Amino acid sequence: MAYPQTTFSHTSFSSPTFISRRREVVYSTTLLYQLNVLKSTGRYHAFKLEWHPCYRDKPDVWPVPNHLFWDSDVAKWIEGACYFLLCEENPTINGAVKELVAMIRSAQQADGYLNIHFTVVEPTKRFTNLRDLHELYNAGHLIEAALAHTQCYGNDLLMEPVLKYVDLLCATFGPGPEQKHGYPGHPEIELALLRLYGERKNPKHLALAEYFIAERGNPTGQDGRHYYDVETEARGDREHERPVYYPKSRSYWYQQAHEPIVNQQTIEGHSVRAMYLLTAVADLVRIQGPSSPKSADRTNALQRLWRNMTEKKMYLTGGIGAQKQWEGFGIDYFLPSSTDEGGCYAETCAAIGVMMLAERLLQLDLDGKYADIMELCFYNAVMTGMASNGKQFTYINQLASSDSDLSRRAEWFTCACCPPNVTRLLGYIGGYLWSFRVDENEKSQSVAVDIHMYSSATLSIPINDSVVEIEQDSNWPWEGKIEFTIRNPTDVAMTIKLRIPAWATTWQLSPPLPNAHTSKGYISLTPAYLNAHPTFHLEIPLLARFISPHPYTNQPIIALARGPIVYCVEDFDNPWVDDHFKSLVLDPSSRVAENTVTMLSSTPKVGEGETEAESYVGLTAHNAAVQMLEDENDEHEQLAPHHIPLVHASDSSSTPQTQQQQQRPGMEQLHFIPYALRDNRGGKGHMRVGIRRKL
Ligand SMILES: [Zn+2]
Repeated sequence: MAYPQTTFSHTSFSSPTFISRRREVVYSTTLLYQLNVLKSTGRYHAFKLEWHPCYRDKPDVWPVPNHLFWDSDVAKWIEGACYFLLCEENPTINGAVKELVAMIRSAQQADGYLNIHFTVVEPTKRFTNLRDLHELYNAGHLIEAALAHTQCYGNDLLMEPVLKYVDLLCATFGPGPEQKHGYPGHPEIELALLRLYGERKNPKHLALAEYFIAERGNPTGQDGRHYYDVETEARGDREHERPVYYPKSRSYWYQQAHEPIVNQQTIEGHSVRAMYLLTAVADLVRIQGPSSPKSADRTNALQRLWRNMTEKKMYLTGGIGAQKQWEGFGIDYFLPSSTDEGGCYAETCAAIGVMMLAERLLQLDLDGKYADIMELCFYNAVMTGMASNGKQFTYINQLASSDSDLSRRAEWFTCACCPPNVTRLLGYIGGYLWSFRVDENEKSQSVAVDIHMYSSATLSIPINDSVVEIEQDSNWPWEGKIEFTIRNPTDVAMTIKLRIPAWATTWQLSPPLPNAHTSKGYISLTPAYLNAHPTFHLEIPLLARFISPHPYTNQPIIALARGPIVYCVEDFDNPWVDDHFKSLVLDPSSRVAENTVTMLSSTPKVGEGETEAESYVGLTAHNAAVQMLEDENDEHEQLAPHHIPLVHASDSSSTPQTQQQQQRPGMEQLHFIPYALRDNRGGKGHMRVGIRRKL
């Protein structure tokens, strides 16, 4: 079964594109930068199991010790490093991976246990707080690191201790009378175990993953009660003591453990957890087969929760999670843009999780609606999480800044899940561009390729003694023309499906294919067409367009988008702003011009250290912007809001006094920059995606 974490190795990137530039900056800068941070913060050597002074620090988020995720920070870095090392050698990164693996091996306890905190700090409390303390989450990331390590190095130096640890977990958790009937508060190990099962085919790994998924939310799982209730009581927690992220006691929806997944009607709680969990559910359906009896309810739940999320709980950028307290979903249509409007979390990891889930759902059902969201997340909610220099990151990706939360990236975080998650994603991003299936039997071979995202890259598929290559060449997402070249030396029967995004108003295939049409967002190119035309091109016009959130959000705002890119305004280009563009009013009927902007990024070529300019398409709205005026003499300011008089539509002579507006110098041209490229050029940190719409 295919996973992008393994299929990516069939993809190579060619001429500079948005994607290849970011891969390059990660390889030349980010991995080494993060390695230094791992060292300077104590993470790098933590598997030596020595005491670190910060282990005594009070938790920023009670009851979770700040260092609790260190295992996963290291594991995710190893995983990302291995993906890049598969493509190109780097002695420093290679040396660090080997040293870390040696330390992890030495940290394993005699019974297989492998965790920093519960070996050094609280050795008597293993598996006593699955709800909050990320033990199994860390184990999951170690499994994923081991899979990448084996793929890269061809040995089991990391896999060996990980398999021994998984053996201990298989013995500890499960339905047996002596086993714990628990499951992790933060899903991750489920998808990792399923990937492990795919590689090693050990049924115990599949059984444990399925157990964790099926048992989750069982109200009577442990001694007739919810596992987390029993666990809480065993720890001796006081009755009303609760983690800071719980609005009230037993808020198990935070962990998607309030009821079994197949019964959940709406997507709730911590958004990263939800995405990792549903990704695993989708993988389980793929492994057991969509038509198996157990898969029907799980497939329905996946589709129901996906719909609820994308239709009612997703930002224009693809970000999810409006609520800071639980880093997750609010009620339907609660999608404020900024802290001073009531929230906006949109964690980078959560958008990465959406991409993971979308990719799995695409493999279950090739429907462009999943690929559209996958691409939206990548180019906006995810890529806004890293600066173009590869050394600053965001955790929260608000759609508008405020005085308390400026549009700024940080160099690192105490809870540092996001930066290495971006690193490893860019390591295997080639696996998201396309998926393929080879059908070989004695009589014939055939290959089917579904192309989900465009870039400049080559997919190489070995078939028998030959290699079939599909090359796409484009300057996506700035230009919409994609040229394809097929190299098929033995004339293997090939079918290609090309995604036509839902936002595309039209498209053109050249040479034309008679009766070509889209089916669920893809056009299908037949073997006959591909044999006759080993080179062809697809053109999808990229036109600026206004988008807006659902009317039920009660936000009269519009934003600019072009192709998969969502734009924002920043003070750097619009220096007159002094209120985070809060009073800005934008006319959607205005003329929007495109301009090619060259941004000097500090993207050094590997080994060269020179900077290279990156061009992008900026947008400018002409004579479209005004600012709402606050009139000091406005009598309405003295009144409660509900006393502001309504103006009847029939009364054309009357204009509401509250809509006084002005155009300040410089506003004649309102400049927009891709949201992903914000905060790369300095400035005051004022930014906004959705702007008040002129009525
Ligand atoms: Zn994160």
